[in-house]
Amino acid sequence: MAEYLASIYGTEKDKVNCSFYFKIGACRHGERCSRKHVKPTFSQTVLIANMYKNPAHEQFCTLSDEQMQDDFDLFYEDVFMELAKFGEVEEMIVCDNIGDHLVGNVYCQYRYEESAGNAVDSLNNRFYAGRPLYAELSPVTDFREACCRQHEIAECNRGGFCNFMHLRHPSRSLKRELQDGQRLSIREKERESRQATRRPAEDEERRGSRHYEDDRHYRGSYSSSRPEEY
Ligand SMILES: [Zn+2]
Ligand SMILES: [Zn+2]
Repeated sequence: MAEYLASIYGTEKDKVNCSFYFKIGACRHGERCSRKHVKPTFSQTVLIANMYKNPAHEQFCTLSDEQMQDDFDLFYEDVFMELAKFGEVEEMIVCDNIGDHLVGNVYCQYRYEESAGNAVDSLNNRFYAGRPLYAELSPVTDFREACCRQHEIAECNRGGFCNFMHLRHPSRSLKRELQDGQRLSIREKERESRQATRRPAEDEERRGSRHYEDDRHYRGSYSSSRPEEY
């Protein structure tokens, strides 16, 4: 029996736990759902609810497609850089759905649970674009499972009110740039911590990595404000 219950946990067959909350981290019934939304105590994934405001949903939006993409890229970069201060980001996604429970949701999956926990604690005391942030640990482990397949291949007939994620993607070049930047920064950190344990004479060598200072995005962003930790 216990094995059976474990095998159906969070699926549609599970009459106790909500499969939408389990898979997507948000369910349209919210707190009133007849099934349980079991909030994880530890998770690699953080949900920041309703963070992205798509200008296209505003009444007098006159932006061209290109301007819309630029606007979104700026948002994506801004948020990614902030979230990466808490630790290595495996993936960050933004929902373009329009239903209340999914609109503008940002999900960030970290490599380590500790990073996700620190991010939640810090973000809940912060504002973004004049609005308070609401962050929580999310049970979502696999974004592919959470995404709407119809939307990925063509057009979803439920449109923006679909209860599976419809993602908005940053431009490819930006995504690559952010990932490369993060990788560089991690390597740099590792090198610094290795060198910090060596003799002071070797400090000179460490200071030699000056090229990094010219980097538009990563200068100072990760460095000192990142928890000393792992
Ligand atoms: Zn539910
Ligand atoms: Zn859909």
